[in-house]
Parts: sequence; C-alpha cells; structure tokens
Amino acid sequence: MMRVVGVIGAGAAGLCAARHALASTGLSPVVWEKSSQVGGTWVYTPHTGKDQDGLPIHSSMYQSLKTNLPKEVMGFPDFPFSSDKEESFIHHSDVLKYLKSYTDNFNLNQYIKFRHHVELVTPVVTDEKTTWQVTVQDLDTKTSSTTVCDALLICNGHYSVPRMPQVEDIERYKGKQVHSHDYREPSPYKGLTVVVLGAAASGLDISLELATVAKEVLLSHNFPLPIPSELPPNMRQVQGVVSALDEGFVFADGSSAQADVIMYCTGYEFTFPFLTDDCGVTIENNIVKPLYKHVINTTHPSMGFIGIPFQVCPFPTFDFQVRYFLGTLTGIVTLESQNEMVAATQFELECRRSLGYSDKKFHQLGFVRQEQYLADLAKNMHAAQIPQHILTNFKVVVFRAIFSIMKFKQYSYSNDGNTLIETLHGKRI
Ligand code: FAD
Repeated sequence: MMRVVGVIGAGAAGLCAARHALASTGLSPVVWEKSSQVGGTWVYTPHTGKDQDGLPIHSSMYQSLKTNLPKEVMGFPDFPFSSDKEESFIHHSDVLKYLKSYTDNFNLNQYIKFRHHVELVTPVVTDEKTTWQVTVQDLDTKTSSTTVCDALLICNGHYSVPRMPQVEDIERYKGKQVHSHDYREPSPYKGLTVVVLGAAASGLDISLELATVAKEVLLSHNFPLPIPSELPPNMRQVQGVVSALDEGFVFADGSSAQADVIMYCTGYEFTFPFLTDDCGVTIENNIVKPLYKHVINTTHPSMGFIGIPFQVCPFPTFDFQVRYFLGTLTGIVTLESQNEMVAATQFELECRRSLGYSDKKFHQLGFVRQEQYLADLAKNMHAAQIPQHILTNFKVVVFRAIFSIMKFKQYSYSNDGNTLIETLHGKRI
C-alpha cells in the first residue's frame, strides 16, 4: 500500500521533497502550498505587509537581486541550471524559471494543492508509529479539511519572519526602521543617511545598492575586524549599534552618527506556527529541537525538516536531506534509537560549544561543516557523495565575496567535468 508523505510548502525544498518521494518505492507525496505558484521566496512581489488573503508576504526578494552563489553551485545535483547564460550570478527571476522547469521536468504540479494553507499539524501516536493529521484551509472556498499522512516534511521556508534585534532606547528614534524583508528598491533612500545593521549576504548586497543613491551608508556589524574589501566612497564600516538617539545611533566603540533610516539586515526567525505542542518541537536560542542531523524530529521520526542549516549551498543540501529522510521510510537508512539520536545531537552541540560557538549558530554549517555533513548523510543513505567541484566553487565564492564585495559577482564559473573554470569579463583566469 502507498504511504502518504505530506509536504508543507512548494518552494525549492518542498519541490525536492515531492520529486524524490515520487521516485521512492511505496511513497506518494501531497504538497500544500498557500500561494498560487511554486518557487517560495523566489516569487518576487513589489508588495510588503499582508497579501490578498491577509497572510504576511512570504518573499524577501528585492527587485534587482542577483544570486549570491553562482548557478553552477546552486542547482540540485540531478538537475543543473541551464548553461545558456554565461553569467553565473543570475537574477532572481531566472531562479524562479529554473524551479518551474524542475517542477515540469518531474511532473510535480499534479501533486501540489495550491492556495492551501496548512493551519494545524497534530500527531496521532500509536505503539508502532506516529502519523500526522494535517488541517488545511482552502483559501478560495475558505473551507478546511484534514488529511492523515504517514510522514510529514516541513518545508515552509526560513527567510520570511524578520528577526528584530534589541536596540536600547529604540522608541526614541524618530527615523525610519525597515527590515530587509521589506526592502524592494533603493529610490526611497535617495539622499539619506542609512545605517545598515548586519553584514551577512543581504546586509552587504543591500548596502551596495543603497550606496548608489544614498548620501551615506554606515555598515554596522560586530565582526572582530573590518571587512577587508574595497567599498564605495560613500560607504563606511562602523561597529554594532548598541543604542538609539532621537536622530541616530550609538555604536559599540562609543562613537555615534546621525541617520535617517536604520535597515535591519539581521536575519530571520525559524517559525512553525502550525505545529501543535504535541509535535514536541521547540525553538530555543535559534536551535530547532529536537532534530537529529538537523532533519529528523527525534520524538516522532516520521516528521522531518528541510532547510534548517544555513551558510550552505541550499538546493544541494535540500536534496541530500530529503533523500536521507525518505531513506528512513523506505528502509535505505536505519535510524538509531531515540536515546542514541538525542545523545548524538547533544554531543554535536557540546562540541560546538567547546569550540567557542554560541548556540544560535548551531545550524550554521559553513564550508567545512557542510562538507562533513553532506558526506555523513551520503554515507548513511549509501549514496554518492556531492560532486567535489560544488564544494570547491562554494569555498572560492565565499572567500571572493569577503575580499571583493563589489566585484565577486562579475566572475563566471563553469564546470568542465570536475574542473573549475573561472572567467572574468569572458577571460579565463
Ligand atoms: P521557501 O522558498 O521560502 O518556500 C517555502 C514555501 O512554503 C513557500 O512557497 C510558502 O508559501 C510555503 N508555506 C509556508 N508556510 C505554509 C503553510 N502554512 N501552508 C502552506 N504553504 C506554506 N539561496 C541560494 O541558493 N542562492 C542565493 O543566491 C540565495 N539568495 C537569497 C536571497 C534572499 C534575499 C533570500 C531571502 C534567500 C536567499 N537564498 C538563496 C536562500 C533561499 O531561501 C533558498 O535557496 C531556498 O529557496 C529556500 O527554499 P525553501 O523551500 O526552504 O523555502
């Protein structure tokens, strides 16, 4: 008998889940997607706030966004991006096109219930297993229905709910406060002084775009050293914001500056508003608990989470996580006992702590840990390792992005078998 794998969300993670469930013996996917199309965060909208159904806008894309990873690194391992375009860092609309062609190629549309909003997930626990009652609202008819699934993959995306930092005295600040989730284009910031708080991918990218129109951009961050890259003349680095003034901010070194706007590029929260307490999932200090290998709910292993790790190659990571999770259902992967999974996760956390990492970075992999992580998943599911050139290109890009923020997207990459070919303005280097 076919077992039903419920999938929440039809972004890259949910599509990947559906594609591999279809390819697995005895599994059949059903995907719920609250919007009317696939692609998740890659579906750009100029709007902010609420959508036509009164739900918060999901996408955090801005109009001009080009990927921060080359397409040669970004794609699913079994479905590379088309090499029609020479440029490697492509516009967000090209990523959406790619996800649509992935959907068509694997005939996924028929398994997706569009405009279906998952509202409640409840476990049904018996001695042998946990199944899942998923209650969904059809946003067109406003009617609710419940489906029982043998397994459930949570693919609701983790770049939608802004994380707001605590800034002392922020209530006295008279300027404008915006989170990068609501940033769309630079024209409203023309001639203004903007503090951009946070210097990860979005903070850097948005700062550069703002610098094309703003009077001055103050890139505020807590890195121990200044970012060693050339910057536009009207952009400078300052330490982290500690408190607000009426018309500006005080930074960690005691200096202060006037600013018309603060742009929070401070990341996003993990949220699973549809999970009842019985699911046993909590979020503490940016750690989603209790997850084994950042995927499996150790209390109820028939529930998996895709896309929790960050600072990774997202699509390839989804692909490995999905196949690992599905492998636990089909018998390809043998899970350890609950106690062993809990102990292994705690051990990983303690190791991180002993290396000096704060808990909130537990799901942050980076290139060294990503390589080990994907190798471990591959080993456990007896599958091929991730192609080495993806890992190599990822490292090259990370370094280039740090040392050459203004130029790193001008490089192109192509894969000739396992060899990395890198070009700048069409010239091989
Ligand atoms: P999403 O794409 O967010 O999809 C989640 C889906 O779930 C959405 O369609 C949503 O509508 C649906 N959903 C949520 N809740 C419910 C519910 N209750 N019921 C039904 N449906 C629901 N990655 C890269 O690889 N390269 C890049 O260059 C890159 N740049 C990025 C730039 C920005 C500004 C952002 C925000 C992210 C970027 N990423 C990039 C990361 C990107 O988020 C991932 O690559 C990936 O697209 C995430 O896919 P996902 O399926 O996990 O989530």
